[in-house]
Amino acid sequence: MSATLSDLQTEREKLRALAAKSDYETALADTTSHRALLDAAASLRAVIDRAMANLPGMMLQAIEGEQDETRTHFLLSDAALTVLTALGGEAEQSSAALPAVGEQFRRGAKPRDLLAVSQWADRHRWLRSGTNAPGRWNTSLTPYLREIMDSLSEHSPVRSTTFKKSSGVGGSEVMMNWMGYVMHHLRNKDMLVVMPTLELRDRSLNPRMAKMLAETEVLSELVSKSSRDKANRADVIEYGAHARIIRSGANSPDSLRSDHIAYVIADEVSAFPWDIGGEGDPMTLIDNRQRTFSRAKSYFISTPTTVGRCRITLQYARSDQRRYHVPCPHCGAKQHLEFDRTGKVAYGLKWRTTPTVDEETGEVLRPQVLSAWYTCKQCGDDISEAHKTNMLAAGEWIAGKPHIKRARGYHINALYAPVGLGVSWRDIAQKWVDCQGDTSEMKAFVNTYLGEAWAELGDSIDEISLISRLEGYEPLDMKFRLRTAGVDVQKNRLEATYIGWGEKEEAWLIDHVILPGDTAQPEVWRDLADSMREYGIQSAVIDSGYNASMVYAFCTAHRYAVPGKGMAGTARPLIEDERRRTARLRRRAKRQHIVEPIGVDQGKALLYARLKMETPGPGYIHFPRTPTFDDEYFAQLSAEKLVTRMRGSRPFQEWVQTRARNEALDCMVYATAAMRLSRVSLSAPPPDTQTPAAAPRRTARRIVSGV
Ligand SMILES: [Zn+2]
Repeated sequence: MSATLSDLQTEREKLRALAAKSDYETALADTTSHRALLDAAASLRAVIDRAMANLPGMMLQAIEGEQDETRTHFLLSDAALTVLTALGGEAEQSSAALPAVGEQFRRGAKPRDLLAVSQWADRHRWLRSGTNAPGRWNTSLTPYLREIMDSLSEHSPVRSTTFKKSSGVGGSEVMMNWMGYVMHHLRNKDMLVVMPTLELRDRSLNPRMAKMLAETEVLSELVSKSSRDKANRADVIEYGAHARIIRSGANSPDSLRSDHIAYVIADEVSAFPWDIGGEGDPMTLIDNRQRTFSRAKSYFISTPTTVGRCRITLQYARSDQRRYHVPCPHCGAKQHLEFDRTGKVAYGLKWRTTPTVDEETGEVLRPQVLSAWYTCKQCGDDISEAHKTNMLAAGEWIAGKPHIKRARGYHINALYAPVGLGVSWRDIAQKWVDCQGDTSEMKAFVNTYLGEAWAELGDSIDEISLISRLEGYEPLDMKFRLRTAGVDVQKNRLEATYIGWGEKEEAWLIDHVILPGDTAQPEVWRDLADSMREYGIQSAVIDSGYNASMVYAFCTAHRYAVPGKGMAGTARPLIEDERRRTARLRRRAKRQHIVEPIGVDQGKALLYARLKMETPGPGYIHFPRTPTFDDEYFAQLSAEKLVTRMRGSRPFQEWVQTRARNEALDCMVYATAAMRLSRVSLSAPPPDTQTPAAAPRRTARRIVSGV
């Protein structure tokens, strides 16, 4: 029998009923689970509420009685960590229905690594090309950098880190590693990197940073993510969610006027200007950016420049002044490595050269350094450079002023350059031998090899060493390219220094004469004219600061002489440059007297630098062994001292007289000005950087009236 239509319909209804029943049962099961979840969430919330209620009390308890800011910071995060870890455990137990939640809490509560900058660099930093040691960064190759880097770690209490250094010891790598650490490890800190100028930022900093980001995998990942949608610009790199590395120039107030910033790097800080466009010191602008942060950090780095104007030297002087002490391989005494510039100290870097004079021909030879070694300060034994690697590894930074806590200063010179990664001791000695007699080369050596500021402005000179350089020449018998005089006018006498000049401003003192007499009367001036004629003086500068009318009258009658007026200010050149002088003479042509402004401060600086030169040659000053050049003369010559003072936060320099009479120095400055003012060319002056002015030509007629 076949099935009827009604049978089929009944069967379909049965199936529908079964399906409906199954749907209902599923829905019922879901409802139960949902309710269980709600219950679990409610109990979890109770757990969280309880934990959060405990947290403030636990935190307060954790920091009770703690004074140190850094420890406080870590105690607080430890307390929070304890609460969250406990919470994760309780959350897991409180509800088996929510297994993932407890796990999430525990993961969130995982403490961040207390990673130091040097550890970060060893783990993550890569150097590929253009370096002596390509491959993974290895702090143990430059062990002295470890503590410097770690002063910059987030958990270090150090507020400012100063690195005063020679070239090529890795100072910028410290900076790069700190940037990498901030970007990759801390991830949320803004950082301001300041170069001396915007131009240097674009030319030097940006390419170096781009190289580091490209070479170091964890950093290239970070930056490429954000640079996909926002092109990173010259002045800012954005990374992570909201963090930035802002790059600026100390010559641009606009580039420093960013938001508040906790971390600052000032690179080549000794090249920063002292004032930018009337907005004051760029360092003050930078400081203002950091003011709101109690945990701000700064890294100042530079090779030094010139004493008194060198920011890194000033910054180091305010720090705890660390030096890297390494043990002697013979006696174990720890000492910092020094270069003996004077040749008079028993210890330090020593060397042996080939002869300086050919014994047969008498020809002066350029000496070659045959070997160099270090003489221990303690035991006096010689240390070969082969020991250096072990010495560096066993070294430690020792503070000169350990009572200063939050400002650390590190100073290092080229003697520490790791074997194979920088200059050798022999290279250093050869460089020093080669640059003798060339002031600008010597300055470069002191700055970039010794990491010291150059005392260019001859802060003071030692009269004893001047006396020891008296020579047995007969000045009246010698032939000179030019003979000049510098005359100082006192009430009861005239004093004049006569100098003979050779190639490149090499100078031979001829005489220093004192002509007694009332300088308001003509007699003593006649004596001066006779004296200058006798010595064949071709050019003279006479100080017009006293009895000016008599000086003008003398200069009218004797056209080789000009009145000079001493002007203070270390920025003023010994004589005006030609352009400025022409403009002045044009403006003042109708006035009566032409008085040459003499930059006496630079004049003294120039002479003091030259009086410190050790070997005859361009710029050297010779003194004859005659009765004139006695103790009193040299005491007067060394009667002044250049001192650095502060005006607000800005250093400035000033010559201070250390004894009552200093006519000898004034006369020599004027005689030197007379040489520069004369039209006699002595070829190029020796390469000292202080007085670039060339001898000016007289482009306007001098109109000097009588009294
Ligand atoms: Zn020793």
